[in-house]
Amino acid sequence: MNRRSFLQKTALSLPILTATPSLFTSCQEEKITPIMTDKKIIIIGAGIAGLSAANYFKTRNIDITILEAQNQVGGRLKTQRNSDIPFDEGASWIHGDNKNPITNLAKASGTNLFETDDDQVKVYDIDGTQYSDSVLDKAENEYNKILENLGGDQNQSFETIFYQKYPHYQSNRLWTYQLSAYLEFDTGADISELSSLDFYDDEEFSGRELLVTNGYDTIVNYMIQGIDIKTNTKIIEINYLTDKTIILTENQTFEADFILLTVPLGVLKKKVISFVPTLPNPKQQAIEKLQMGVINKFLCVWDSAFWETDLQYIGLTPKTKGKFNYFLNYRKFSEINALMTFTFGNYSLLIEKMSDAEIIAEIMAHLKIIYGNNIPEPTQLLRTKWSSDEFTWGSYSFTPKGTRSTDYDVLTEAVEDKLFFAGEHTSRDYRGTVHGAFISGEREAKKIIELL
Ligand SMILES: Cc1cc2nc3c(=O)[nH]c(=O)nc-3n(C[C@H](O)[C@H](O)[C@H](O)COP(=O)(O)OP(=O)(O)OC[C@H]3O[C@@H](n4cnc5c(N)ncnc54)[C@H](O)[C@@H]3O)c2cc1C
Repeated sequence: MNRRSFLQKTALSLPILTATPSLFTSCQEEKITPIMTDKKIIIIGAGIAGLSAANYFKTRNIDITILEAQNQVGGRLKTQRNSDIPFDEGASWIHGDNKNPITNLAKASGTNLFETDDDQVKVYDIDGTQYSDSVLDKAENEYNKILENLGGDQNQSFETIFYQKYPHYQSNRLWTYQLSAYLEFDTGADISELSSLDFYDDEEFSGRELLVTNGYDTIVNYMIQGIDIKTNTKIIEINYLTDKTIILTENQTFEADFILLTVPLGVLKKKVISFVPTLPNPKQQAIEKLQMGVINKFLCVWDSAFWETDLQYIGLTPKTKGKFNYFLNYRKFSEINALMTFTFGNYSLLIEKMSDAEIIAEIMAHLKIIYGNNIPEPTQLLRTKWSSDEFTWGSYSFTPKGTRSTDYDVLTEAVEDKLFFAGEHTSRDYRGTVHGAFISGEREAKKIIELL
């Protein structure tokens, strides 16, 4: 979902999967001259950024190898298939399908898509009373107006500036809900950390919000065809002192002329990889300053549905920010009796320490407010723990207070024309998205090809 698409309702009536040319298909369809080179190129990380670069090279007959730490590929495009329900732990949506390169990739790979309507929602207060449509519309209009003209300060968080200007909203549960289920969901950040200047300065594609219903790994499986990927290969050092760059794992050594590093910002922040020599100071500082936010997802499954099956979303306005306040109804697009709910911001960190039973109790307490005490317990809970995922350390990047989004440009810069950087955290315009990561991979592949 994406609340900013509220501002772009005019684009919502496009037919599904219009054949807009994507970067990926245009690569394959246009006449491309193969490039001969004896230079060795290694891509680190087999997420969408690494895979998009790999495919760009592949279409030009350039051999590359991807080194991937995990025993699986796709990174944050991660579909859990332990049960008969494909559960996307990371990305679920194509945000804005118009000219979005992921739209055509989805089409080519046989991905099933469903258009979710952000406005098809019923929101309830903590006594079970439903907010009227007029109250919701008024609050959302005001939300959009305020956010367009907040007027921030580099060193102050969104939360500080917002409540300084609108103190009466501090105890307004509908506003707590909007700032959490809309803003914290979109940016990945807790509003107490989020920049009050650069919270929505990125770009977005117009068009519809398309939910992938048969697993985002469908796209990954399509993209890995013909690509040399070494899994279980965790990089711990990159030495670019000598002519050839040396890449080390615990027990292996690789050599390359060009390295494309696509590991997440969280991995760079944790210094999992040592650089010899150390990265230039501005890059180190940008790595330190930009942050990873945490969104967690929870899929609850029942034998039968007790909620309105044709409703897209259910909202609740608890006092606690970021706590199971938004539910995606699976029955709207499938036969599965399931609701997906989320945690945002700091509450996402807290929840990772809780047991499944404790989480179910919290979710059920919220659903009972709306549907009464007699609803059944779920038969299954699937959950994520992104802040403690050792290959990501968070969900996606955001600009915190104390810095500016220009740091994303610093993360994008190559080092000595040997070391190149891609990934969602190198896309100032499309950070935190699948398409941002995809575009960044092609961007860096083009830079490397210029040097061959
Ligand atoms: C909960 C959640 C919901 C999201 N929802 C959406 C959504 O609906 N729509 C959307 O557009 N975006 C969404 N996103 C964001 C999107 O998933 C990411 O922006 C995108 O997938 C990032 O791709 P990437 O290639 O930059 O990084 P990744 O996918 O993280 O790939 C990096 C790869 O590097 C590997 N790696 C890490 N360390 C090492 C190492 N030391 N050595 C070798 N390899 C290493 C990792 O294992 C991983 O495979 C969501 C993300 C999350 C977590």
